[in-house]
Amino acid sequence: MTLRGKVAVITGAASGFGAGMARLFAAEGAAVLIGDLDGEKARKVVAEIADLGGRADSLVCDVSRRDDVAAMVSKAQDEFGSLDILVNNAGISHQNKPYQEVTDEEFDRIYAVNVKGVHMAIQSALPLFEAAGGGVILNISSTAALRPRPGLSVYNSSKGAVQILSKSLAAELAPLKVRVNAICPVMGDTGLLETFMGQADTPENREKFIGGIPLGRLSTPEDIARAALFLVSDQAAFITGVALEVDGGRCV
Ligand code: NAD
Repeated sequence: MTLRGKVAVITGAASGFGAGMARLFAAEGAAVLIGDLDGEKARKVVAEIADLGGRADSLVCDVSRRDDVAAMVSKAQDEFGSLDILVNNAGISHQNKPYQEVTDEEFDRIYAVNVKGVHMAIQSALPLFEAAGGGVILNISSTAALRPRPGLSVYNSSKGAVQILSKSLAAELAPLKVRVNAICPVMGDTGLLETFMGQADTPENREKFIGGIPLGRLSTPEDIARAALFLVSDQAAFITGVALEVDGGRCV
């Protein structure tokens, strides 16, 4: 019960890494609010958590819309009484393809969700953190920010922005007792996998990507959730500004 009594908002937690974090945080005692575009899948995760005796709720939220993220933060406060942890996990990419073919619309949408969405959620949460005397922010970046693969340059750069925003805010918000960390997952078996690979998800194609990961497999939602649990918990009380690679050695 590492998170007993804590309230966590997790964006993009209707599937993939976010759903893994929602399940583990709830199992460890947190009340979890999921903000996701996909309301139906989010409600399924909430129901699974409730079936196991955990506390969770969801709302439909597009993190690229300021009103939506403000409503998400308010709902956490109104329903669960506080906000202790904000996990900015929602993210998108264009299909893996040559940089020359990325459209302005794709660029704008990726930056609106992956970068501005993180910025607006943090700005929305900060008044609550300030009032409470502190808080914890965890941003899901990527090994794409550290060891980028070709065909994903715009996505990679958006995750680089998340990384530097996290480190900058760790320094700027420390006087408010707000910790800011990031996790850099390696390619994982989630909804984004085919988008990243740019080809069908066949065992042969997977092997090509797994070949670049020393521990010999893709990441899982459980891998990311366990690292996230540590970073948002009081056990990491003196850790801020790190970008933790959860990557089976990919960035070595
Ligand atoms: P996923 O597609 O399974 O989950 C992403 C979730 O975000 C979905 O539930 C989706 O509905 C939601 N979402 C998308 N746009 C949204 C928006 N505008 N507002 C609110 N919710 C939105 O993918 P995932 O792999 O679990 O991705 C989670 C995070 O992990 C992303 O930030 C992604 O960039 C990052 N990441 C993924 C990998 C990987 O290989 N899967 C690797 C490194 C980093």
